[in-house]
Amino acid sequence: MRIAEDLKVTAIRTARGRVTGVATEAGEVRAEVVVNCAGMWAREVGGWANVTVPLHAAEHFYIVTQPIAGLHPVLPILRDADACSYFKEDTASCWWGGSSHGRSPGARVASPRPSPSISCPRTSGHIEPLFAAAMRRVPVLESAGVQVFFNGPESFTPDDRYLLGETPELRGMYVAAGFNSIGIQSAGGAGKVLADWIIDGHPPFDLWDVDIRRCAPFQRNRRYLRDRTVETLGLLYAMHWPFRQAETSRGVRKSALHDRLAAAGACFGEVAGFERANWFAAAGAEPRYEYSYGRQNWFDRSAYEHRAVREQVGLFDQSSFAKFVLQGRDAATVLGRICANDVDVPLGKVVYTSGSTSAAALRRTSR
Ligand SMILES: Cc1cc2nc3c(=O)[nH]c(=O)nc-3n(C[C@H](O)[C@H](O)[C@H](O)COP(=O)(O)OP(=O)(O)OC[C@H]3O[C@@H](n4cnc5c(N)ncnc54)[C@H](O)[C@@H]3O)c2cc1C
Repeated sequence: MRIAEDLKVTAIRTARGRVTGVATEAGEVRAEVVVNCAGMWAREVGGWANVTVPLHAAEHFYIVTQPIAGLHPVLPILRDADACSYFKEDTASCWWGGSSHGRSPGARVASPRPSPSISCPRTSGHIEPLFAAAMRRVPVLESAGVQVFFNGPESFTPDDRYLLGETPELRGMYVAAGFNSIGIQSAGGAGKVLADWIIDGHPPFDLWDVDIRRCAPFQRNRRYLRDRTVETLGLLYAMHWPFRQAETSRGVRKSALHDRLAAAGACFGEVAGFERANWFAAAGAEPRYEYSYGRQNWFDRSAYEHRAVREQVGLFDQSSFAKFVLQGRDAATVLGRICANDVDVPLGKVVYTSGSTSAAALRRTSR
C-alpha cells in the first residue's frame, strides 16, 4: 500500500455505472473503490461523477485566550446553550467556541466554492454578540488576552447528519463527508464502519440516519443548501422540539393535490423535499405547529382524523412515498419475501403493505 499526500485529485473515472479510478495531478490511479472524503469540497468532487453530495460550507469560529492564572487543568468542558457557547481548558488557556441560532448574524455560510485556504475573514461583527454572552457566563474572559481568533469553514448537511456509504448513483463510489462540526470526535467510528461497509458490501449495523442514500438529487441545489445550512447550523443550541419542521428551503416538491389539501387546512411537513399534509387544523384555526414536550396542538386533530378514517372514509395522498420499479422473472417472489402482504396480484390491482428493507431480508432474497 502507498499513501500519496498533497496530491490533488482532478477527476473521477467511471465505466458502466461503476467507479474505475481517479485522475490525479501525478497521473491515473485505477481503483475498484473510491472514497470521496474531500470535506467541504466533497459536493463539487461528487459532481464530477454526477453523484449527489449535499453539503455546504459554513463559518465556525473559536478563540484561544492567553494563559489565565488559576485555570484548573481538569476543568470540565462547559456548554452554555443559552449563550450558544462551549468553554474548555487547554494548556492553561481557555478555548471558547460558539455558533448561533438560525438567522442571527453568527450563522453565516461560507463561500459555496471554498478556497484551499482553511480560514475565513476574521470579521468580528457576527462574533461580538456571542462573545459578549460568553463573557457574561465566564467573566474572566473579559480581561483575558486573545492568543488565537480562528474562523474556519466546515461542511454542514441539510439535516445535520453525516453523509456515509456507497452512493446510489455510482457503484464503488463511497462518501465520508458532511461532519457538521463533529468530524474529529466522529472520525474513528466513521472510519471503522465505512471500512466494514466496503469490505462486506453493506453497513455493519443500521446506519440509515447517516446513509448517503437518504439524499435526493434536488438537494444539490446551492440556494437550497445555503438557506437550509443557516437553519440547521443555528439549531445546534436551539431547543430540539419533537416533530420540529424545517422553516427554510420549503415547497420544493408539491403533490397534484397540494392546493386542495391546503384549502382543507393542512399543516404541511417536509419529507424528502415533498410537502406532506401532517395534520389538518379545525375550520378557522391556523395550521401551525405549537411545539411542546407534552401533547402538541395537533393531537386532537390527529385523533379526529384517525376516527374519521376508521369509521367513515379517508383519502391519503401518498405522492411523497418513494417509488421503485422491480422488474424481472423473480420480482414477485422477491417481493413476496420482503412484503408482509401478498403482492402477487393481477395487473391493475394495488396492494398496501409494509415491507422490510433490512440487510438480512435483502440478503435472504438474493440467495
Ligand atoms: C473552528 C472549528 C472548530 C472545530 N472543532 C471541532 C471539535 O471540537 N470537535 C470535532 O469533532 N470537530 C470539530 N470541528 C470539525 C472538524 O474539524 C471537521 O468536522 C473535520 O475536520 C472534517 O473532516 P473531513 O476529513 O471530513 O474534512 P477535512 O478535514 O476538510 O479534509 C478534507 C480533505 O480533502 C482534501 N481535498 C479536497 N479536495 C481534494 C482534491 N480534489 N484532491 C485531493 N484532496 C482534496 C482537502 O485538502 C482536505 O485535506 C471544528 C471545525 C472548525 C472549523
